[in-house]
Amino acid sequence: MAVLKLNFFKLLALMLILAFGPVVNKAAAQQMKVVTATVSPELPSLKNKKVLIVYGGWDGHKPDAFAKRMEAWLEKEGAILTISDSLGIYTDEALMAEVDLIVQYWTMGKITKEQEAGLLKAVRNGAGIAGCHGGLGDSFRDNTEYQYMVGGQWVAHPGGEIDYSVNIVNGDDPVTKGIEDFDIHTEQYYMHVDPNVKVLATTTFTGGQNDWIDRAVIPVVWKKYYGLGRVFYLSIGHSPDTFEVPEVWAMLARGVRWASGSKYLPKEEWMSPVYGPGR
Ligand SMILES: [Zn+2]
Repeated sequence: MAVLKLNFFKLLALMLILAFGPVVNKAAAQQMKVVTATVSPELPSLKNKKVLIVYGGWDGHKPDAFAKRMEAWLEKEGAILTISDSLGIYTDEALMAEVDLIVQYWTMGKITKEQEAGLLKAVRNGAGIAGCHGGLGDSFRDNTEYQYMVGGQWVAHPGGEIDYSVNIVNGDDPVTKGIEDFDIHTEQYYMHVDPNVKVLATTTFTGGQNDWIDRAVIPVVWKKYYGLGRVFYLSIGHSPDTFEVPEVWAMLARGVRWASGSKYLPKEEWMSPVYGPGR
């Protein structure tokens, strides 16, 4: 009887697939759209959040284009924006004590001791910080405390702009939930990364350029804390077209939302050191 039942349901399932196949596909297509949406009920809203956008540094990364894109989106989300192309803003104590979130896109360049101190103090006290590519992960090469805050530092992108895959390694986190692995053509960042960050996506190097990094798995997306502040990083973002890739923009936008919540939401606990017996 059990066998007969199984056969009956299998047959029914087959008939349903045959009859409603196109409908199912349409639903799947809609689902695809949903998963790259930037809004998630699990992530904090940006409405009335005080957000500081700071942009500049190496011009090859088109920092003004990034700032404009971010500004347009954050405005739509209802954030209260301050936008600056000067690192001097980090010494504005009143402003830095008030901001909920800093979005920085500043590749290389120099930051003064006072500017760095202002930024790090704000994050330690609960301002979130979010960014991508060299704008956060290769900003001030002389400043190790800054790098300690970010949780990683760019060291190479072997081969320049190449084809590679991004693998979602934590599909439970609201930042990556529903997003599938995807391929992209841009710089593949090889980074030195803090083993205590929460890694959400990775990429694997082939060794085609440098054989000693063959099969090396390097984080692409991570989140962490620095004091009370939430830190979000995505290594993609070399050129404006990379933000047109739905998965990239979805992860960045969701990461920005997540980072904006440190002053309002309890600290998340998920330490999982990569090395050592504590894992
Ligand atoms: Zn780049």
